[in-house]
Amino acid sequence: MDLASAKKTLKKYFGYDSFRPLQEKVIDHVLSGRDALVLMPTGGGKSICYQVPAITLSGTCIVVSPLISLMKDQVEGLVANGVRAAYLNSSLTAAQQREIETQFFHGQLDLLYISPEKLTAQHFLPFLKKVNLNLIAIDEAHCISAWGHDFRKEYTQMRFLKEQFPGVPLVALTATADKITRSDILSQMNIPEARTFIASFDRPNLSLEVRPGQKRFEQILAFIQERSETSGIIYCLSRKSTEDLAEKLQRAGLKAGAYHAGLSPKERSRIQEQFINDEVPIVCATIAFGMGIDKSNVRWIIHYNLPKNMEGYYQEIGRAGRDGVAADTLLFYSFKDVMLLRDILGQNPGTQIELQLTKLDRMQQYAESLVCRRQILLSYFGESQQTKCGNCDVCKNPPAYFDGTTIAQKALSAIYRLRQNEPASMVIDVLRGSGKKELLQKGYQQIKTYGAGRNFSLATWQHYIAQLIQTGFIDIAYNERNALKLTQQAHAVLFHNQNVDLVQFSTVKERQEKAKKLAQQQSLSAERNEALFQKLRAVRRRLAQEFGLPPYQIFSDATLLEMAKKQPLNDREIGRISGVGERKRYRYGDYFIDAILDHLSEKKGQKGTTYKLTQEMLKKGLNIQEIAQKRNLSPTTVFSHLGYLYEKGEPVDLSPYISQEEADQISRAIPYLEKPVKLKALFEYFDGKVEYHILRLGIAFYNRNHKSKEQT
Ligand code: ADP
Ligand code: ZN
Repeated sequence: MDLASAKKTLKKYFGYDSFRPLQEKVIDHVLSGRDALVLMPTGGGKSICYQVPAITLSGTCIVVSPLISLMKDQVEGLVANGVRAAYLNSSLTAAQQREIETQFFHGQLDLLYISPEKLTAQHFLPFLKKVNLNLIAIDEAHCISAWGHDFRKEYTQMRFLKEQFPGVPLVALTATADKITRSDILSQMNIPEARTFIASFDRPNLSLEVRPGQKRFEQILAFIQERSETSGIIYCLSRKSTEDLAEKLQRAGLKAGAYHAGLSPKERSRIQEQFINDEVPIVCATIAFGMGIDKSNVRWIIHYNLPKNMEGYYQEIGRAGRDGVAADTLLFYSFKDVMLLRDILGQNPGTQIELQLTKLDRMQQYAESLVCRRQILLSYFGESQQTKCGNCDVCKNPPAYFDGTTIAQKALSAIYRLRQNEPASMVIDVLRGSGKKELLQKGYQQIKTYGAGRNFSLATWQHYIAQLIQTGFIDIAYNERNALKLTQQAHAVLFHNQNVDLVQFSTVKERQEKAKKLAQQQSLSAERNEALFQKLRAVRRRLAQEFGLPPYQIFSDATLLEMAKKQPLNDREIGRISGVGERKRYRYGDYFIDAILDHLSEKKGQKGTTYKLTQEMLKKGLNIQEIAQKRNLSPTTVFSHLGYLYEKGEPVDLSPYISQEEADQISRAIPYLEKPVKLKALFEYFDGKVEYHILRLGIAFYNRNHKSKEQT
């Protein structure tokens, strides 16, 4: 079996024209019978790596998968594409299981998804032995390793697969695996010789943005309103805050739900279903949400609070834009959050607290970064990227530095005079000359720098102090109620006039506004024919309900966007859209073509434009019959449109329908007839031997080529 047949499978069942570069390498490797370990980020297209060989080769592939919901989703997706796939796990009744086992036994399946429990059950091995296996795929393979973060005990009992089926290629796949986990997978699966394929973890379609965490709710509201009707997740730190935020959003008229571990399983799955089916597009969730759902059209992610570490952050934002279409991520950052997280970590001592704190530091550095955020992110995951990404807030609006020596001196001197004994909030109050009770009681109004920074707002001071911390002039003593301390560097500023460069606070604000505008321009709306896209989404929703599938299983956003742009009007054209395989074209194609036609006729709904519509359809390569059928018109009417267009000098071609000879004959006859020439009269002139539609085109030919000459 070769790559060419694999490509045919890809087109036929999935509707894609080509493999992604690493997919092709993996598939080539697997088709030649060798084992592989595949690391790709979420949305990287792991499943194609085993699904395509499974369908292309004769026999059945078993896919071991740890999550029941994920199995169901994958199998539904495959079946919708016309692939013979099924799953076996504890969610099925005994009778259902027997039915699937029978199909499997009789070689009626291309893929069987199976839970590790089922696979390792006593009675199953003899079964497996009798089936023609073409491939074994281990999904979420990091579950094998106690080092990984989702360790599953059942996953450690799969050594037998390679022992029992040495000739069947085995491919293990995961989106997260550090070096230890990787070698663990290889040794536990008993495939030490397997080749490892690692894709870049970059997700260039995800925009990255960090904003100061002031007035979060107002900012969130505006953010969502700019992206109306699209799905997104807002991650919050606590259960209560998910509920509060969801309620506030509901009061603002948005459809939002809350999701956290404190809800009953029934309630949780209800919310998940509603989200998957695009019924409730916004979910405010704790980190538990998003695991095990494959929804490809999540368009944005907001972090209401700073995540604990970069791993969690990247995994969470990774749930957006799996379809490869632009998606936006927004992180709110405030220094308060860092304090809060430190406190939380401190309350669970023992669990590698030093490591956790270091990870939090890295997260904070990311949020405060003044260089390309994607570079930081990728370098954290061991990938270096030399060029700036152009899709993060820093790249879109690079910081502008100015001489901030005086500002720094004021802040540092305030800290000095407060005996390095007060946290940032008090330092700022002193600088701004606040009349707060605590301040007055402590007598801080006597201090020389009291009120020296009145000209700046609270937010401005927070911004500058954060910079002084980042650049190493100030330290925070976490163990002394977060008091600010001066570093060696600070002394140089205070006592030796060292200069300090700061990033203008106004540029931060401008940056946000610019980024906002850019986001508006670049987001979906700019790429798509918005109105048509919305109509196609409505069709998708209706079909999803009818077929009992989540909307993204009908077609992905990427596919609908391409349809809105290319506006396919027939079977052939819709088949060329990426994501439209044979089965889906057959099942759903007409519904979408009809919606596009409706849209075009509506858009061109004014008088005279019915001709235009015919012209557009001609341009798309439809023939007269097809146009008549699509538009529910008689072919004669469509021919008269064609004639009209020709008369008006439009670039339409009559030659497929009328010969030069016929056109000349008709042109010669017309001068003998009464004006304006009636078709009926012409018909009789030729003794009924020339068809009406040819006569109509003949008149058009005459009008365009002879009439004017006659008049002059
Ligand atoms: P993963 O399992 O790695 O998270 P998926 O297999 O779900 O990723 O694929 C992510 C998205 O990319 C899906 O919408 C999938 O249909 C799409 N995709 C995968 N391979 C291709 C390809 N070769 N061409 C176009 N789209 C692809
Ligand atoms: Zn960048």
